[in-house]
Amino acid sequence: MQSRMSTYTVTVVPGDDSAPEAVRATLGVLNAMDLPIVFDVLPDGETFAKMDRAESEAFVRAAVDKSDTVLYGSTSGRTGGMAYLRWGRGTYANVRPIKWRPGLPSPLRQPEGIDYVIVRENIEDLYCGIEGNLAALLASGLDTRPWGGRIEARYPPSAASDGRFAVKIITRENTARAAHAACRLARQRKATGSPGRVTTAVKWNVLPRSDGYFRDVVRSVAAEYPDLELEDYLADDFARRLVADPYDLDVVLLPNLYGDILSDEGAATIGGLGVVPSGCYGEDFAYFEPVHGTAPDIAGRGIINPTATILSAAMLLEHLGLVDQATRLEAAVDAALAAHDRLTPDVGGPAGTGDFAAAVRERL
Ligand code: ATP
Repeated sequence: MQSRMSTYTVTVVPGDDSAPEAVRATLGVLNAMDLPIVFDVLPDGETFAKMDRAESEAFVRAAVDKSDTVLYGSTSGRTGGMAYLRWGRGTYANVRPIKWRPGLPSPLRQPEGIDYVIVRENIEDLYCGIEGNLAALLASGLDTRPWGGRIEARYPPSAASDGRFAVKIITRENTARAAHAACRLARQRKATGSPGRVTTAVKWNVLPRSDGYFRDVVRSVAAEYPDLELEDYLADDFARRLVADPYDLDVVLLPNLYGDILSDEGAATIGGLGVVPSGCYGEDFAYFEPVHGTAPDIAGRGIINPTATILSAAMLLEHLGLVDQATRLEAAVDAALAAHDRLTPDVGGPAGTGDFAAAVRERL
């Protein structure tokens, strides 16, 4: 008797601007794979734009709560659910593989061998969105003098300044969660031949009490993994290293803002934003999305590169335990890129989104 495979429900959120074009192309590939998955495909951003914010949020949230996991295109604000997926579901580790694949362009002379993973802490730092008027901060009683008044500043912020502030939050708990995720991943990769190294980067010299705290927590977590090596950098020096010497990197652990910025830099070395997938993982839930945004400048032209979304779908399959199917999908992407005949313009080709997706489908 044939054993029954479980059927999974995956919510697919097409998103805004160009993102739905990449998501539809990805669904075309997934539908050719005979997967034990029911896809619940939500409307595009244009439909959500007609709802009010609360209605759109509730709609996406209800779908997410009924599913095992989510493939999320990208949003510029019309499609809701992003904040719920991150903060509501506590997806604290955003895992972004930066791997050069044959066929992809690079501004580096030698992109061969670039293969590391950025783990970006996903729910803290400046991305908590706590901002306000400087006047309110000055009135709060917090000492706002540069360097606590140790130097008499010529141009300090004052009640007369028209200014704003933003708050950066780093907690031990969430830093440790992301650090454990990075260490577990480094262990997994070590088992298949990677060096077993976690590299972290912050501005601990300028921000000892926030960035320095992040670094201290990472150090204490890493001490629980004596089989791994911990390396740490100043964030600006690390930005240099990502371009000058990315070859020995294995797992890179960064706070939210630096992680966001530096992963776009890493992407540039391996073919650009169109090819970098990601997964956001929490304790009991994960969802998957390309690293890129909605690419509004090319919306409607049918040229968005679907590679990042297709590879995000491969990460999703792996998360569901469909490991063979994930491997098969990634191999088909690799073969289509290497064939180099139907690449999209962002990676130097003449083809459209659907043409590249067809090239992947044919190689499944
Ligand atoms: P976000 O802040 O939401 O991540 P962003 O500011 O990084 O967004 P993107 O939407 O990612 O902006 O686009 C940046 C540039 O990269 C744009 O010129 C866009 O067209 C291009 N781009 C992004 N993703 C792709 C893709 N998949 N295929 C082709 N070009 C892309």
